[in-house]
Amino acid sequence: MRGSTPTVDPATWRYGGNTPCLELTAPDGTQFILDCGTGLRMLGRRWSKPEGKSGGETHILVTHYHWDHIQGVPFFAPLYAPENAFHFYSFRSKYLGQDSLKQVFEAQMAMPYFPVDLSAMASKRKFNEVDGGQSFHVGENKITAQWLNHPQGCLGYRIETPAGTVVYATDNEPGDKILEENLRELAAGADIFINDAQFTPDQLATTRHGWGHSSWKEGVRAAQDAGAKTLVLFHHDPDSTDRAVDTILRNARDEFDSVFAAGEGMVITLGSPGDHVQAHLPGTRTALRREAQFRAKVSGVTEGGKPFEEETLVRDLALQGALISLEHAPRLQSELLVTMEAPGSDGRQQMVLRGYVVRTEQGAEKGHSAVGVVFTE
Ligand SMILES: [Zn+2]
Ligand SMILES: [Zn+2]
Repeated sequence: MRGSTPTVDPATWRYGGNTPCLELTAPDGTQFILDCGTGLRMLGRRWSKPEGKSGGETHILVTHYHWDHIQGVPFFAPLYAPENAFHFYSFRSKYLGQDSLKQVFEAQMAMPYFPVDLSAMASKRKFNEVDGGQSFHVGENKITAQWLNHPQGCLGYRIETPAGTVVYATDNEPGDKILEENLRELAAGADIFINDAQFTPDQLATTRHGWGHSSWKEGVRAAQDAGAKTLVLFHHDPDSTDRAVDTILRNARDEFDSVFAAGEGMVITLGSPGDHVQAHLPGTRTALRREAQFRAKVSGVTEGGKPFEEETLVRDLALQGALISLEHAPRLQSELLVTMEAPGSDGRQQMVLRGYVVRTEQGAEKGHSAVGVVFTE
């Protein structure tokens, strides 16, 4: 979800620093991957775990050939396994000609840039050329590609599944009438609209004008025009700290009902039509987690809009968020304040964490909900 180049700066750890790579599983079981940024390596690691997927076919939609969208390819272990088959989709670049993406593979693994060449990749690979305006079917899903406004071209993808429609529109800048229209056509009525939000509206109007990216404000505008239901802010600037992304998210939320800022490991599930979209961070259960019980006071607003305060124990705490058991059912996407007591050198100290509700589910304890919180500043 990070744009342009990966980041390892601790100030970006919460949202994460991998460049674009998303996994989408359709109700019919069709497996899609959207873009091949550095996140692809971790996706490959997850698949290679015993409980992960092995063998089978995967459809990989690539938006364009900038480094941040292809650089995960050589590090995607499933590409080296003969039992796997991949169908790649991307456009014919005028700089590369026929089989553009295949050439990208070869170039990335050419000597002396990588220790092994393409012959080490034993999986079956098929390369399909797509053009803007084109539609095709994979299983029960319809995919439509559209050109977006970006240097050397970029495709946005609309994926219509029986569970709902997901639109992936990274790397695009407003300012071209026809391409702005494309974006809205792509996003029309989408359940999930993932859009470039790299810059602030101010940067976009001044120093970053013409760089090929967008802002949260333009994303909100496009989502409103297109009647999209949930907006996901994506392609965060490598120079944006977590705090900067928090501010971008808060600004967008002030103007649009349902907004998420893409974060490392975030999972969004489409429920029944009309259900609110929920997200969660399965990573919080394994990564950087400390077995502990913190006494905490949690305050927020309920589904009905009533403020509440409640004491509980936080058992599942990570850098990005927490899973908290509550009697109250807080409203999705509302802000939650978690005040924890921690023993300090001079008695007890308070730690106040601010977050927003991304998920509520029936908890293990009777009468309690398990509430997933993503921390902001
Ligand atoms: Zn990019
Ligand atoms: Zn780009």
